[in-house]
Amino acid sequence: MSKIVIAIDGYSSCGKSTVAKALASHLGYAYADSGAMYRCITLYAIRKGVIKDHSFIEDEIIKLLPEINLRFEFNPQTKSSDTYLNEENVEKEIRQMIVSENVSKVSAIHDVRVKMIAIQRELGKDKGIVVDGRDIGTNVFPNAELKLFMTADPNIRAKRRYNELKAKGQNVSLGDIRTNLDQRDYEDTHRKENPLVQAKDAIVLDNSELTREQQLQFILNIIQELTLSTT
Ligand code: C5P
Repeated sequence: MSKIVIAIDGYSSCGKSTVAKALASHLGYAYADSGAMYRCITLYAIRKGVIKDHSFIEDEIIKLLPEINLRFEFNPQTKSSDTYLNEENVEKEIRQMIVSENVSKVSAIHDVRVKMIAIQRELGKDKGIVVDGRDIGTNVFPNAELKLFMTADPNIRAKRRYNELKAKGQNVSLGDIRTNLDQRDYEDTHRKENPLVQAKDAIVLDNSELTREQQLQFILNIIQELTLSTT
């Protein structure tokens, strides 16, 4: 089958990036983590002192945009792509709670979305890519050949994120993580521009009770059916 675009959207911390990375690696596709891009803008604004005490002036974030360069680079050690902000590997920093707590408000800014969406479309112009986020199948790649909408029980999502951050040595509480997930889900589904909604032609994957292998197999089966129906 010729190369396709695979769009994976869904709620916060439901394992989109884990399954997207496994899928990209299995298919020999590129992987783009669109959430990481919004996290980079947020991290940059925090470092510049534009976001203080969870608040900011929109225009000040917009003014920073021309200073920000983003790219992904495959890391052979982790077998995954790292996120670079102005040539600095920020893969770890962008996962900090302080970034998670501010990112949904930053991602709701029109000019931020315009810039990020343009980069995402450029990355996907030759297809052969898995992109995960909130508006990939509905807005960034509305013609993606395969669209998935991922969801999972919120308690399971919070526990998974907690274990992940603990394993990375971050001092976090399960309660704070659950609060942050609920808040981001609310903000991402209620914002004016490109809110998180399930695309009409997306296939739902609820991974509450599925292992990584089962999720990968579920998607590979769909791809096989797609291939059969197009040959
Ligand atoms: O996927 P991740 O949780 O890292 O995304 C961080 C945040 O970036 C989301 O909560 C959402 O506010 C924003 N985002 C977005 N559109 C995307 C991807 C992420 O608005 N396509």
